[in-house]
Amino acid sequence: MEASLGIQMDEPMAFSPQHDRFQAEGSLKKNEQNFKLAGVKRDIEKLYEAVPQLSNVFKIKDKIGEGTFSSVYLATAQLQVGPEEKIALKHLIPTSHPIRIAAELQCLTVAGGQDNVMGVKYCFRKNDHVVIAMPYLEHESFLDILNSLSFQEVREYMFNLFKALKRIHQFGIVHRDVKPSNFLYNRRLKKYALVDFGLAQGTHDTKIELLKFVQSEAQQERCSQNKSHIITGNKIPLSGPVPKELDQQSTTKASVKRPYTNAQSQIKQGKDGKLMKQSKTVDVLSRKLATKKKAISTKVMNSGVMRKTASSCPASLTCDCYATDKVCSICLSRRQQVAPRAGTPGFRAPEVLTKCPNQTTAIDMWSAGVIFLSLLSGRYPFYKASDDLTALAQIMTIRGSRETIQAAKTFGKSILCSKEVPAQDLRKLCERLRGMDSNTPKLTSDVQGHASHQPTISEKTDHKASCLIQTPPGQYSGNSFKKGDSNSCEHCFDEYNTNLEGWNEVPNEAYDLLDKLLDLNPASRITAEEALLHPFFKDMSL
Ligand code: ADP
Ligand code: MG
Repeated sequence: MEASLGIQMDEPMAFSPQHDRFQAEGSLKKNEQNFKLAGVKRDIEKLYEAVPQLSNVFKIKDKIGEGTFSSVYLATAQLQVGPEEKIALKHLIPTSHPIRIAAELQCLTVAGGQDNVMGVKYCFRKNDHVVIAMPYLEHESFLDILNSLSFQEVREYMFNLFKALKRIHQFGIVHRDVKPSNFLYNRRLKKYALVDFGLAQGTHDTKIELLKFVQSEAQQERCSQNKSHIITGNKIPLSGPVPKELDQQSTTKASVKRPYTNAQSQIKQGKDGKLMKQSKTVDVLSRKLATKKKAISTKVMNSGVMRKTASSCPASLTCDCYATDKVCSICLSRRQQVAPRAGTPGFRAPEVLTKCPNQTTAIDMWSAGVIFLSLLSGRYPFYKASDDLTALAQIMTIRGSRETIQAAKTFGKSILCSKEVPAQDLRKLCERLRGMDSNTPKLTSDVQGHASHQPTISEKTDHKASCLIQTPPGQYSGNSFKKGDSNSCEHCFDEYNTNLEGWNEVPNEAYDLLDKLLDLNPASRITAEEALLHPFFKDMSL
């Protein structure tokens, strides 16, 4: 080892430089760990201080999740006579809007507690601090187990996800953030739970009363294009009556706020209903989605062939820049279009990415399709983009540009794309990525067993998308498949070995279902109820 570092040692040393380095690294790690532990301890103390009643019931043990909008803790509780129970305590950021909090709770209490939808045990509030107590489900990290799952486990995973989606969709809940970290999976116990309704919205006929406020705000925002003020996040006045208790707790803090309506959009909409990307259009056109020779640039507009149901806003094609790659001054002065676009970019459906105002439960099915794509290809995350148009271009590299443009027309959007890219055959794509196709040398199990930390299609790599997906994963330097690579997932297989069972004969039904989930047209996309009846799940019962 020393030789490779070019270090010659005359005498054996008790502590080689290498040894010192390891020691230094070790103590650095330890320090980091101690620092982290101290931080968690402090957070737990603060939580007890903020919501003192928690200490009567719970012993908070650890912090298990931290996002922009909440921190989740593992606690134990002696709730009834019997053994201690493990509880997950979700502490929502105090600046969350009361309606948003109440809607999240109502989703859990009304739809939760069965069919793989997380339920709620208690909720605690002190001033603007809200803590939701839920049954704790120990779960796996998706990335850690991705490539060790047997094909049967993948079937079960998807079946159980659809069960949860069917349940919430029956209640008119659009989850809007379906992704592996919001679908908890305990592999050993075969238990599943859909969590996190923090971004949920209601369908027009939702049974979750409070989602109607969230929804009506979305509609109000959408239809307020003629108002002169700019509406953002929580500052929108409530249109409906606010439950008194919630109203009085309403917070004025201006830090991070979870939107309880739609996020701001970058696409403008004018009186004629035409949508244009505002200042970012130039960036979009010059964005390197391709090598210099094969740039793919996208631009989204209201197409004017909008179906009546797609939006209540009128559309016309009268300005100068329609169907060109320029943005005229009329369009630049248009008001921004607002449409729901919360969620995680890599899981956003085309109608979300193009800011279609009328979004349905179909957006969750698209996200489920992206999860399925990861499971079948062994790659996670599959798409990674920092903005919507890049994400859209990435989708095109899999589903085809012509097909995407065609589908967008059905929901009233016109997409301009500078380059035509063909649709991929989903089976060939997944088999290639997994290293299972006949043209690719089979991967040894220890290599194959390592899930990629890198997105399959990222901003860095998406310009190579079409050639990337023809490259066997073991050879592609953009992915961490090489053994010993410091990026690789080192503890993927502590518990489970790669399970190749079933992967050699993935039935056509799997790709048929994937195709139906990744249907670019939300109107024809398969529903959760239909998915459960798909031949892919023929021997499985609800
Ligand atoms: P956020 O809105 O911050 O994303 P989530 O509700 O998704 O909050 O929770 C964040 C993380 O906390 C989840 O990804 C999961 O790892 C963990 N978590 C949440 N609820 C539970 C639960 N009931 N049991 C176990 N872990 C949970
Ligand atoms: Mg979450």
